[in-house]
Amino acid sequence: MAAVHESVLDAIGGTPLIRLARLGAGIAAPIYAKAEFLNIGGSVKDRAALSMVLAAERDGLLGPGGTIVEATSGNTGIGLAIVGRQRGYRVIAGVADKASAEKSDILRAYGAEVVLAPTSVPQEDPRHLFNVVRRLVEEIPGAWLANQYDNPANPDAHIRTTGPEIWEQTGGRVTHFVAGVGTGGTVTGNGRFLKEASGGRVTVVGADPESSSYGGGDGSPWFVESIGHYLHPETVEDRWPQALGSEVIDSYERIPDRESLLTARRLSREEGLLVGPSSGAAVAAALRVARRLGPDDLVVVVLPDSGRSYLSKVHSDAWMREWGFLEEDGEGLRPLLDAAGPLVVVAADETVGGALEALRTAPGGVAPAVLARAARPYGVAATEVVGAVSREVLTAALGDGAVKPGDPLGALVGPALPTVGVGQSAAEARAALAGGRPAVLVLVDGRVAGLLPREALG
Ligand code: PMP
Repeated sequence: MAAVHESVLDAIGGTPLIRLARLGAGIAAPIYAKAEFLNIGGSVKDRAALSMVLAAERDGLLGPGGTIVEATSGNTGIGLAIVGRQRGYRVIAGVADKASAEKSDILRAYGAEVVLAPTSVPQEDPRHLFNVVRRLVEEIPGAWLANQYDNPANPDAHIRTTGPEIWEQTGGRVTHFVAGVGTGGTVTGNGRFLKEASGGRVTVVGADPESSSYGGGDGSPWFVESIGHYLHPETVEDRWPQALGSEVIDSYERIPDRESLLTARRLSREEGLLVGPSSGAAVAAALRVARRLGPDDLVVVVLPDSGRSYLSKVHSDAWMREWGFLEEDGEGLRPLLDAAGPLVVVAADETVGGALEALRTAPGGVAPAVLARAARPYGVAATEVVGAVSREVLTAALGDGAVKPGDPLGALVGPALPTVGVGQSAAEARAALAGGRPAVLVLVDGRVAGLLPREALG
């Protein structure tokens, strides 16, 4: 029988471990999922939030009349809102302005105040979310920054609760632990505990988006929220969180976005586990690990949150198709894409002359402009496109003497071209050209794979 609790805070943790029988079919090593989305606030971060607040009270950093502040777009904010309000504090969540409105609504529903700020600027920029939040802490008397990225009470939560639960639930038989890495709290705390309990026998694997820099990518954008380490092209110093103890991680599995997203969808359809994209990444990694193991091994993988928060994203066929993650055989824009010339991309800080040179070979005389000049080994993510440059506009501006070839593009970068997913139809692509746009960008796996000018769409 399930436990009875006198406080919602006592109900955090104690989540079930569930065998992935369908996805693991044909694999000798059993895979068990730790269903962290069943926590009171809906995610693994409830544990970290409770741990950080109790540690701050113990250390005298947070007391009566105090305010909890954190930069968080979701799960940690929810955890802090629940714990903070229960313990009588004001809670302020700094949320990335690109986060969905639902995320802010949930935080407000739990009684938190929401402050929106950009993350799409370098970390040095005063408008960056982290700097906005730091200023709030300086200005509000009695304010405390939870700082999940560097707070040792974050991994501690898992050393004290999640790790021991997994050890007990598997009767000490766990041999491999797999988790996504955001702040690193989950993988570090569990990893430390399980290695210690097993005398070093447990192998710890981090699940990382392919382009994230934790596992060796260049830090360019990806589409699985809440895990991985992003590097803005203009960020000078790449700082990793102190909550991440890299020495605990034996290896990373680097998972492409499509594999993560499709695995999240399989988990809901085949296992009855409606989970978010980071669970998909973790399970994709666990499947890779388990395929290399035998029947005496036992893999535990963490499912951090529920798919209910992503019904309009990974669990929506339309969204998956629009971003080029879903395509049916023989349908869609693949043949037109294959016939299109190589993609030309212009860096937004290129000179007028340099851009014109690049546009010589661009179909339709137009090319997407992207933020970063740096090479993009994983392709240009749709979210990195900041506009478009056209031969016509540049030639006209040079012709009337408005600019010289050596000038930066500046205001000559026009609005971004519309995008369609490779699985969408030519009719949908034509519809996207409404308003006289000269071309569409075709996305494969959220990245710009090609450009189709109006003429190519029939
Ligand atoms: N998945 C989701 C959905 C999360 O909210 C988080 C926390 N940011 C993680 C994975 C990663 O967990 P951690 O911060 O402990 O590395």
